[in-house]
Formats: sequence, structure tokens, C-alpha cells
Amino acid sequence: MSAAVQNITPSSEARAFLARDHRLLIGGEWVAPVSGESIDIIDPATEGTIARAALGGSEDIDRAVTAARKAFRGEWSRLTSYERTRLILKLADELEASIALASEIEALDNGMPVMVAHYSIASFGCEFLRYYAGWATKLHGETIPVSPQGVRNGESLTYTRREPIGVVGAIIPWNAPLVMAVLKLGPALAAGCTVVLKPAELTPLTALLLGELATRVGFPPGVINIVPGLGESAGAALAAHPDVDKIAFTGSTEVGRKIILAAAGNLKRVTLELGGKSPMVVFPDADLDRVIPGVTRGAFFLQGQNCMAGTRLFVHQDIFDQVVSRVAEMAGQFRIGPGINPQNDLGPLISAVQRERVMAYVASGRQSGAELMCGGEALPGRGFFVKPTLFARTSMDMKIAREEIFGPVLCAQAFGDSDLQAVADEANRSIYGLSGSVWTRDISVAHRMAGLIDAGQVSINCHAAVDPAIPFGGNKQSGWGREFGREGLDPYLKTKATTVIY
Ligand code: NAP
Ligand code: MG
Repeated sequence: MSAAVQNITPSSEARAFLARDHRLLIGGEWVAPVSGESIDIIDPATEGTIARAALGGSEDIDRAVTAARKAFRGEWSRLTSYERTRLILKLADELEASIALASEIEALDNGMPVMVAHYSIASFGCEFLRYYAGWATKLHGETIPVSPQGVRNGESLTYTRREPIGVVGAIIPWNAPLVMAVLKLGPALAAGCTVVLKPAELTPLTALLLGELATRVGFPPGVINIVPGLGESAGAALAAHPDVDKIAFTGSTEVGRKIILAAAGNLKRVTLELGGKSPMVVFPDADLDRVIPGVTRGAFFLQGQNCMAGTRLFVHQDIFDQVVSRVAEMAGQFRIGPGINPQNDLGPLISAVQRERVMAYVASGRQSGAELMCGGEALPGRGFFVKPTLFARTSMDMKIAREEIFGPVLCAQAFGDSDLQAVADEANRSIYGLSGSVWTRDISVAHRMAGLIDAGQVSINCHAAVDPAIPFGGNKQSGWGREFGREGLDPYLKTKATTVIY
């Protein structure tokens, strides 16, 4: 493990942004919360306070929903689809023009390496918006030949329309704050919905920046409202609100269950992107020069605080020792330190709570008899840093292999010459089914195994291949519904069938 690479001073632009009075965006105005409450925003690399942000509560959520409803019925609903496309494209351009600032703020607020922030904002911020901007003009229904009530053929017409569902409540986690905000806004805006977005309490800053950019490019007031706040107050109020038509939630499976219960009041539509414990399955003929960097990054990208993280490595027994020692070697070479310094490969975890949680799992792994190959320690001193950790000889009976840790902990176990179904059964021994990867040069094995893995998406000879056009979402307790691609629009639309008898 290289020594922690030091912190560097943020740019003057970032410092000016951080020093602002960070308020709520409701109905096009930056307003103080009704309660007057605010929260310290912490840099997880230094544990220092970098900003103070307003903390919205249920009354603010109510104000924001009212603004979103008014906007939904107002000027926004009369814009042509071409005008919606142009606005979303302008937002993408504005975000691209602000990408240096946005990446820096993300690195300071969340802790992720600034280059990772930059890359993810470019592809899952700007390009994602551009992808959905194009869909705004392509949302059309169909005409259906029918003969209702015995009417003769040719004497009636039925057509369907795809209408926006209405006011969307978006609730997002802290692990990729700006990207998460865009993933909700893109399809919602393309469909013609209005949005109340609740960012995570720990990381509200880039969502607020995005709100500023949206206002600057001319989104009508109330189309995008941003209300940072606590999950149990602002989030719960949004999920339960009787005038919200849909909740788009990304977060833990545990909170996902609460969202479903809260949404039952008005039966609002719900999509859920939840936890994961994704398998990476390596066959003995795989190209190890691709496997080693692929699975190591697959496990430790975003310090393992990534829902798609490959956290269970299944390797054929013939190459197990070689793969595991090479992964441990590569993980040990990652430079770990403040994300703001572009030399670092890995940043801190989000909080002291998360560090303690991860370290408790590491202790559990040691106690259960798994073999610690690297890491297993938090870095001393300031910042919530945990070394990338690899446990070998794990089994699916161990807690570390079963539960989502959401940190840099990889479990590896060997498989023998059993049939593919038996390997898949072991990979599928999880309550989750978000992602998975298969590593082999044999195309038959690759596609058979991809078919057998119970997950929303499987990558072959890479891990977590994501793109705005590829449907993304989880099976089992990893979620409800799909985001991204054409399918990602469906939850934001409702179909109306209209019939005329001549
Ligand atoms: P979390 O605790 O579930 O929080 C997610 C969001 O829900 C936050 O904004 C949170 O507010 C809010 N919330 C908490 N309690 C709520 C309630 N009772 N009602 C309404 N909202 C509530 O998740 P997290 O710890 O931030 O993120 C980690 C989890 O997210 C992991 O399980 C990870 O796998 C999952 N995740 C999934 C995906 C995916 O696409 N499938 C992507 C990323 C992360 P606060 O601001 O108070 O926290
Ligand atoms: Mg923070």
C-alpha cells in the first residue's frame, strides 16, 4: 500500500461555491427552510466542515410538491417536445461547461477521486442527459384496429397516447450524488414530468449546483425542485405525499421497503434501485491480463461504495491462487488519499459510521476463518480511509459473503469442475440480483453462464458495463423496474387509450 497522498487546496471557484448560503430550490426561488435548520457538510478525507446547507423538512417538501404540481399544469406542459429536448441539451452543455467545478465539489463532498467524478459526470451526467433529450420527441402511442360494441370495421378508431405521469419524487443516495440526480432528472424531464429531488443529507452540494444550472438554462420555475433533508423527515414526507404521482428511489433495500409502505397511501407508482452483492465468475481459460484489473476495479471502484460492485469473486480452482494473489497485489498498489488530489486512486469512505460498519465486517471475516490476503485496516489519522481488503476461502455461509457491505471488501471462493448450473447456483445464493460478470474466452460458456446468473445485467469479460442506453436495474431484492434506455422512460409515462365511433 502506498502512503496516503496528501490533500491539496481547492480552486478559488470551488471555495467560492462552498462558502455560499446553500438554500432549497423551490418554485424557481432559492428559499430558506421553514424550520431554519441547516447541516454541516463534511469532507470525508479531512473530517473538516466545508460548507453549511439548508435542511428541508416536511413543510418544505409540501411547498416543493405544490410548486411542482403548478409547473406540471403550467407553461411546461405547453412546451413542444422539441423545446423540452433543447432545454435538456442546454442543461447537458451547461454541466459540461461546469465539469471542473462539479468534479471538485463532488470529490470534496463525497470523497471520490476527482478523475472518477469527472469521468462519471461526463458520461452519466452530460451524455445521459443528451441520450434522454433525444427521447422527448419520440414518445408516441399507436393506433389499434378494433370493433368496439359490434361496430363494423372501419367505423371506429382507437389510439393511445403516452402522457407524463405527473409530479415525481426522486430520493437518492450519497455514493454518486450528481450522477444519481441526473439519472432521475433525464427521463423525468424527457417525459414531461416535474420533479422534487431529495439528495442525501451527507452530499447535497452537486445537486444544488445542478439546480442552479437548470435555472440558468431556462427551465420554468417549479419543474425542478431540490430539497436536501433527512431521510426520515423530508424523504419520508415525499414518499408519503398524496400529490406525488411517482417515487424514483435509489438506496438501500431496507429503506426501499419503507418507500413501498409510504407509497401505499395514494398508490403512487414506485421504482426502486437497491442493494447488490454482485458475483464475478472467472473460468480457467480466461485472459488473466484482463481479469486482474477488471475484477480489482470491479470490486474497489468508488471504494466499493457502489451498488454494482463485484463483491463476490468465484474463481476456478486451477487458477484460484494465482488470481487471488494478483488481485491482492494490484489492490495493494492503489494510492489512497483525498479524492481532490488527482494522484489518488481511492478516496475515503463517506463517514465514520460507514468506516465502523465496514471494519465490523472485516472483523467478522477474520473471525469466520476467511484468509485475509490484503488490507483489513483503516488508515490512522484524519479521514475515513479503509484499505482495499480481500478475503480468500470465503463461503456463502459467511456473513461477509452474504450481506452488502458497501465498502472495499472482496470475498473470493473457488469452484471445481462442476457443471455450469452448480456454479450459477452458488453465484445466485444471494437475496440480491443487480449485476454480475463472467470471464472466459469460450463463447458458449460465456453466454450460457450469462443466462444462468439471476441479475438485471451481466457483463462478459468486463464488470459493470453501463451506458445510458443499456437497461439497468435489479432482480430479487435489488429493486423494482429498470432505469436507462427506452425502458427507463416507461415508469415516467402513463398510457391513455382513446376510442371514437364514427
Ligand atoms: P439509504 O440509507 O437507503 O438512503 C438513500 C436515500 O433515502 C437517502 O436520500 C436517504 O436520506 C433516504 N431515506 C432514508 N430513510 C428514508 C425514509 N424512511 N423515507 C424516505 N427516504 C429515506 O441508502 P444509502 O446508505 O444512502 O446508500 C447506500 C445504499 O444505496 C446501498 O444499499 C446501495 O446498494 C444502494 N444503491 C443502489 C444503487 C442502484 O442503482 N441499485 C445505486 C447506488 C446505491 P438521508 O439523506 O437521510 O440518508
Ligand atoms: Mg460530505
